[in-house]
Amino acid sequence: MATRVGFRTRLRVLAMVALIAVIAGDGRFALAQEKKHASAPEYLFNDSHFHLTNYIQKGTDIHRYLDIMGDVVGRSTLFGIPLQQEWSYANSGDFAPTYYLQTDAPLYYYSFTDAYIARAYQSLPKEQQARLDPMITGFNPADMYAVDHIRRVLELFPGVFSGIGEFTIHKEFVSSKVAGETASLTNPALDRIMDFAAEAGLAVIIHNDIDMPFAKVGTEPVYLTQMKGMLRRHPNTTIIWAHTGLGRVVHPSQSQATSEPGVERSPAHREIVADILSDPTLRHVCFDISWDEVAKYAISSPEIEKRTAQLLNSYPDRFLFGTDNVAPPDQATQLRVYHLWDPIWAQLTPDASFKIRRGNYERIFDAARVKVRAWEKANVKPM
Ligand SMILES: [Zn+2]
Repeated sequence: MATRVGFRTRLRVLAMVALIAVIAGDGRFALAQEKKHASAPEYLFNDSHFHLTNYIQKGTDIHRYLDIMGDVVGRSTLFGIPLQQEWSYANSGDFAPTYYLQTDAPLYYYSFTDAYIARAYQSLPKEQQARLDPMITGFNPADMYAVDHIRRVLELFPGVFSGIGEFTIHKEFVSSKVAGETASLTNPALDRIMDFAAEAGLAVIIHNDIDMPFAKVGTEPVYLTQMKGMLRRHPNTTIIWAHTGLGRVVHPSQSQATSEPGVERSPAHREIVADILSDPTLRHVCFDISWDEVAKYAISSPEIEKRTAQLLNSYPDRFLFGTDNVAPPDQATQLRVYHLWDPIWAQLTPDASFKIRRGNYERIFDAARVKVRAWEKANVKPM
């Protein structure tokens, strides 16, 4: 008997020990999960549109930018501005302009921006580099030789770049200020750039105002047909159309006839965007919703907020959030644009919200990295 009780007791003890081990194991598992969670913060967004430097090639120190990203911005594109504002003494005297609206002097392409961005990126440790996607911008899209510049940058800085852009074809007061030939959507130089982007796997961010400034209400946006034509000529290029084609003075309300106060301001722009999204020949085209100017249109009334959210929910794979900040001084500046969208974030499905804030960025830029590295491996001879 005594032996049997002892046996049972031992069994019970063994069972208890096993149970404790399981509980403890569970605890350890939960702790490990928690730790994993703590080391991979729930980032609010990836920034698909970010300028480290401004129109006079000055900006945020790259290490400072990583601090600003902190545990808020997971990953970010990284580019300067390809255009340099000339300081013409004859025009503004001792006043040193830092923005294109501050002087009549021309802008010119400053190709050195690409070397600057590459060196800034290379100064970071590997785990910080992994959070950034540098982009090539320092080429003149009206120049048949532009593509040679892009290729040269890949050759000189292999392992760095994921794409090209933001570069600009039509932009309100900028296009006409650029020295030399005005860029055009019908220029074969642009086709060469888009072809090469497809060949090398470079993701493209293109700024092209859909319309001229102060266009007549109710007329078809003047650059829309040309833009669609250009996009259709390059079905194998991954293209992000910046700001959904809107600009500082190219408002959504200008492309349609109903502009009475209190009335829906801008069905036409959303229809144009929806048309492109539902067009099977334009499946390679996404839009970024960057720039606080774009956010302001999107949140200009509860009705417009609702319709914008409907559009984003209908095509969750085709929009990317970005700030379009230029050389931000702090994290608050980085977050301000994000929070302008709060009324719309609140109306998105969890799926659409995640994809637009983070998922689409990762899909597009992860694919670009793999393709560009493969192109470099096949085409760049070690120096
Ligand atoms: Zn921009």
